[in-house]
Amino acid sequence: MIPYGRQDINASDIDAVVRTLKSDFLTQGPIVPLFEESVVNYCGAQYGVAVNSATSALHIACLALGIGRGDIVWTSPITFVASANCAIYCGAEVDFVDIDLATGNLSAAKLAEKLSEASKTGKLPKAVIPVHLSGRCCDMAEIFSLSKSYGFKIIEDASHAIGGRYQDAFIGGCNYSDITVFSFHPVKIITTAEGGMCLTKDKALYNSLKLLRSHGITRDVEEMMSSTNDSPWYYEQITLGYNYRMTDLQAALGVSQIKRLSHFVERRNEIAAIYDEFLEKLPLNIPSRSSDVYSSYHLYSIQLHLDRLSKTRLQIFNLLRQREIGVNVHYIPVHTQPYFSRMGHLPQDFPNAIDYYSKTISLPIFPGLKGDQQKYIIDAIYEVLD
Ligand SMILES: *Cc1c(COP(=O)(O)O)cnc(C)c1O
Repeated sequence: MIPYGRQDINASDIDAVVRTLKSDFLTQGPIVPLFEESVVNYCGAQYGVAVNSATSALHIACLALGIGRGDIVWTSPITFVASANCAIYCGAEVDFVDIDLATGNLSAAKLAEKLSEASKTGKLPKAVIPVHLSGRCCDMAEIFSLSKSYGFKIIEDASHAIGGRYQDAFIGGCNYSDITVFSFHPVKIITTAEGGMCLTKDKALYNSLKLLRSHGITRDVEEMMSSTNDSPWYYEQITLGYNYRMTDLQAALGVSQIKRLSHFVERRNEIAAIYDEFLEKLPLNIPSRSSDVYSSYHLYSIQLHLDRLSKTRLQIFNLLRQREIGVNVHYIPVHTQPYFSRMGHLPQDFPNAIDYYSKTISLPIFPGLKGDQQKYIIDAIYEVLD
């Protein structure tokens, strides 16, 4: 089966991890800060806090922004469940903003409408979590401008989007957000096996994120409450934190991987351009492009014109799987998950999300996808849609 996504591991990656295994530190050594620095430098960010997953990163991002009981957080229904769960971990309520059908991203226009309504009922969100679906940046300038009018915080869920750009700046620079989150799960753009990172420009948020990552403990005299802090073993727990640390083994893989980040994203863009060229003529929509967005193409998702096809999405999906093509579907709308529907969300509350989901199929895209494999996939799509 040709998978829809796959990590790219080379001999340097393996060497880097083995070197760390033989070193003094398997965790809490020098490599995690080195990885943070390399991501920060790549993205033109200020501060980075590496953690053990993007899910953990989203959780501490919410906590650092003070999200808790009584607060409301809005995100996109077309995302992985972690984008919504992070707010619930903090005791907050989650609601959704419908998507833009052309991009699958949280719609800035729908956001503006929903904010205007919410301001009348006193149900404004404390934070909004836009998700850069497939690595294609949301309309951040507009979302940011709304955040100034309505006073909400922004966490970019950029799990798909490291190496992507918006208005010529790399995602992660937080030009239009308080915190940006990356994932380094193997299916994402670069990997640390499990791993994630929070990026921010705000020193105070950075300090909170570091505390939250590791038990709420500080060894920084400046942050301590007590005056008897001159003993060499002394540390203080000053808030409730977690053990969300990344290991040096993971960071070593990350430092090695980020050297190929530009190459990975270029390869993904080449593959996307070939799909675009050949699939454009078929009864489907290829991913939309925009001059201010350079996508990292974590996913290549097409939208089938089912009204012009004789087969259902399920039939098309199964026929491609039978041909050993590991197509997938991103995503089942989060608000329709049983856990979220129990909170009172109805499928038709977000009709664009339902519509998008009903037509979408993600095709294989990853740096190691060979030209002949891609040709095989394209031929199979022509055959199956015939
Ligand atoms: C993968 C993913 C996450 C979670 O990432 P982990 O590192 O696996 O915790 C969150 N949000 C989105 C949009 C994702 O695709």
